[in-house]
Amino acid sequence: MNKITIAFINKAEEKNLKLHTYIDEKLKDVVVNVDGKRFAQVIHNLISNAIKFTEQGKITFSAEVVELNQEQVSIHFKVEDTGIGIAPRNLKKVFESFHQIKNEKNPVYGGTGLGLAISQSIILAMNSEIKIESRINKGTRFQFPLTLERVELTPKKVTNKDTFNDDFSLNSTILLVEDNMVSMMYAKKLLEKHVPKIYKGTNGLEAVEKIKLHKDIDLVLLDLEMPKMNGFKAIGHIKKYRPDVVVIAFTANIPSTEIIDKLDTLGFDDILSKPFSKEDVFQF
Ligand code: ADP
Repeated sequence: MNKITIAFINKAEEKNLKLHTYIDEKLKDVVVNVDGKRFAQVIHNLISNAIKFTEQGKITFSAEVVELNQEQVSIHFKVEDTGIGIAPRNLKKVFESFHQIKNEKNPVYGGTGLGLAISQSIILAMNSEIKIESRINKGTRFQFPLTLERVELTPKKVTNKDTFNDDFSLNSTILLVEDNMVSMMYAKKLLEKHVPKIYKGTNGLEAVEKIKLHKDIDLVLLDLEMPKMNGFKAIGHIKKYRPDVVVIAFTANIPSTEIIDKLDTLGFDDILSKPFSKEDVFQF
């Protein structure tokens, strides 16, 4: 969910819209059995529409836990905007294929009229339904609950051997900055087979020193909370010496929208939540 919403930060910013994300803390260690691609497609469609049909104000995405037990989790998903809204007579029609509301007062928006029809069929297949509420010129709210089966995350499931087998290699030199030795060892072990060189640092000051010293570094994984100099401060120095280097924030928490905004402003290129998998790193 973080990855889906992070992808929209720039789009929202371009239109001067705020993008608020609320992902329930209780979901942090919850792994579910879901068709991730299809689920992402739905959330992507809803947020993309919300931004498209809103000229001022904010977009809110929330995922709230309604019930959590050993076997399953029920989550309530909501995407709200403060946009142009939909007239009552059109509320049902928006879920029909190829339906786009034609209104001479509204600007012409691109699209196919298929996004909501597909999203609804995906959610119906997941035994739920997308509900819509809207007021003209006030905004629109799409919401749906999902009950998903929980699965135990075993190390086997984390690594996808087909895509990232042991022969996979990335021609990057990485600087790994992390004060926690266990996290450092985990990250190093995961990466060392696939990248030619890894430098290490245990705080922001060391990170800046290594950046000045080793010109071959092209990717920095930077922990945020560290002694001496934290990641928030170190990024400024790193980007000053090497504006071209890719810096990814390394965080143990699910970042709030405020933190995501802050990281974006500071110049971070992306965010990676710990513990991460090889796929997470190599997709950058
Ligand atoms: P597309 O966005 O490609 O036109 P969709 O199926 O996603 O197709 O949406 C169908 C129509 O529903 C849109 O063209 C628009 O008229 C209306 N619509 C969808 N989302 C919103 C929204 N958040 N606010 C206002 N109108 C919306």
